[in-house]
Amino acid sequence: MAGTTHHKVLIVGGGTAGITVAASLKRHGPGGIDIAIVEPSDTHYYQPAFTLVGAGVYDLARTRRTTESLVPSGVKRIKAAAHKFDPANNKVELSTGDAVAYDYLVVCTGVKLDWAKIDGLAEALGREGVCSNYSPDHVRYTWSASRHSSPEARRYSLSRRCPSSVRARRRRSFISLPTICSAGASEPTSISSISSMRR
Ligand SMILES: Cc1cc2nc3c(=O)[nH]c(=O)nc-3n(C[C@H](O)[C@H](O)[C@H](O)COP(=O)(O)OP(=O)(O)OC[C@H]3O[C@@H](n4cnc5c(N)ncnc54)[C@H](O)[C@@H]3O)c2cc1C
Repeated sequence: MAGTTHHKVLIVGGGTAGITVAASLKRHGPGGIDIAIVEPSDTHYYQPAFTLVGAGVYDLARTRRTTESLVPSGVKRIKAAAHKFDPANNKVELSTGDAVAYDYLVVCTGVKLDWAKIDGLAEALGREGVCSNYSPDHVRYTWSASRHSSPEARRYSLSRRCPSSVRARRRRSFISLPTICSAGASEPTSISSISSMRR
């Protein structure tokens, strides 16, 4: 039966930000502070390491942890998604039909990858050299595509709207070049980056 629980601090989203906020509040906040995290996924990915996976120097499995293992001790994890925010009543409705009331709300739901914003991208990903480091579903194909493509075909794109992309792209380019060479590329390898950002 649907019910409402109450927590002093409710964190929606148990990714890097949500877990970090919870850990920081536990460490630096008032002793015994009552915190709950609403997070539907049982799997957490350490996303910065995707660049290493795409460059062929790191195993995807090592970027994966169970959400449960990362939730700080003393913090309650609620396995559900936030379905509706009701700030007038300090309440969040959940996908399970339950609701959680709070004194303080922290929303850390991250970004949603929306491949469909670019025509044809969703269908093209994962084949014929179209890859992305931004999803665990496609990042391994980055390495495969890098190794098997001709040097002229290697292009790294950079979104103007995504600052983390700057670091990620540079890191990937610098790491993958020697790895590609040591993996047996016989011809000189050149890497071009395409960006709409100023240098
Ligand atoms: C390839 C790559 C390289 C990167 N390199 C760097 C780097 O070098 N340095 C750096 O600082 N950052 C880097 N980043 C960025 C960094 O990984 C992200 O900024 C960080 O993971 C974002 O954390 P987050 O908690 O906001 O989102 P996430 O970790 O994505 O977590 C969001 C969580 O919210 C949950 N959620 C979504 N909707 C709901 C809902 N309705 N109800 C409940 N929960 C919900 C999701 O299940 C998810 O667990 C990189 C990212 C990528 C992809």
